Parts: sequence; C-alpha cells; structure tokens
Amino acid sequence: MRFTEFGFHPDLLEGIEASNYENATPVQEKVIPPILAGKDIIASAQTGTGKTAAFLLPVINRLLSHRIEGQVGALVIVPTRELAIQIAQHLEGLSYFTNLSSIAVYGGNDGSNFVAEKKALQTGTDIVICTPGRMIAHLNMGYVQFKQLQFLVLDEADRMLDMGFSDDINKIIGTLPAKRQTLLFSATMPDKIRQLARKILVDPTEINI
Ligand code: AMP
Repeated sequence: MRFTEFGFHPDLLEGIEASNYENATPVQEKVIPPILAGKDIIASAQTGTGKTAAFLLPVINRLLSHRIEGQVGALVIVPTRELAIQIAQHLEGLSYFTNLSSIAVYGGNDGSNFVAEKKALQTGTDIVICTPGRMIAHLNMGYVQFKQLQFLVLDEADRMLDMGFSDDINKIIGTLPAKRQTLLFSATMPDKIRQLARKILVDPTEINI
C-alpha cells in the first residue's frame, strides 16, 4: 500500500517522501488505519518492522489538524534513552515540513538537559518521548500537566516491565486524561502485558504481525 492512500496531510506526505518511504510495511498497513479511526491498539511488533513510523505517522497526522497550542498532545514512553533519541530523530524527519514541536526526555545525562526538558514540558511541546524514571522526576517537581493529551504510546512495553518500570508507568498514566487514545506495542505478549492492556486500553484492536 502506498502512503498516498492513507489520506495523510500534505505536509506529512512531504516528510514521508523526503524519508524515501514509498510503500507501507505490513505492520504499518495493519496499524495505521485503526489508529486513524481513533481506536486503541495492542500490537505485537519487532524492531525493524517499521513499527515506529506505524504510530508516529497517524499521531503526527492527527496533531496537524487537532494540536492545541501550549499543550502536550502525545506522550511516547520507551524503555531506554537510546530508543528515545532514535524515535525523536525519526520523528524529526517525518515531521520536518510541519510546525509540530517535539522533545526527548531521558535520564543518564547527569541532569544537564533537565532545564531544557522542564521548559519544553512547561510550554507544552506537541510530542514528548520519555523514559519512565526521568518523567517521574519532572512530575514530582509539580509543573507537568497533560490536561489535553490526545495520545499515549507505550513502545517496547514488555521490555519496560522487565526493567522494573511498572510502578513508574502506572504513576505517569495516573496523571493522564482518561479520554485519550492509547497505543501499546510489545515484542512479546506475556500475561503481565495482557494485564496492563486490560487496565489501560478501551476496546482495543489487536494486531499480530
Ligand atoms: P523500526 O522498526 O521502526 O525501528 O524501523 C526500522 C527501519 O525501517 C527504520 O530505519 C525506518 O526508517 C525504516 N522504515 C520504516 N518504515 C519504512 C517504510 N515504509 N519504507 C522504508 N523504510 C521504512
């Protein structure tokens, strides 16, 4: 399926073209339509399948017409700083021709990025990609609010639970509006992922690749 068939915003199509993507990968073909239709999803997808763009593209597309100035529109929670940086770079490429803002918020940088992250969270960056512990550190400072959040994405959810981030994730989700679209990606689907899914997803579409 070609990307021109999804009905994406022209500014997003320009970013897709500049990234040299022509056809959607199988995971993108299955995942993008239900996200565009407003559904929660739970998808088992491995790295290298194009899963990052599978959630970034519909999120960018929605925010292009529904972004709210000064508010975080989408929160992407990932297990590691490497993945946060990688997704942020991917996002920058795909959203290059749009006016959307984004930031990666992650630990392990001796706190030197904390002030810039704080400012971005206070002024409401459109898309925030974070690791759990670092977001908790910001939440504990009291200035983060996700009142108008439209999307929550959990990427590599099984890895996050294996790394012991369950409490942090639950705490972050507790600060989000109940009315939102939630997208859960996990390489494997053990019981603890199913339990999490039952708690945070509403009538999800399940996608297995
Ligand atoms: P991911 O599985 O999200 O880590 O993506 C793996 C790689 O595939 C990344 O380098 C992406 O830039 C690339 N990619 C994602 N979607 C497409 C596509 N539709 N066509 C070509 N390359 C893609």
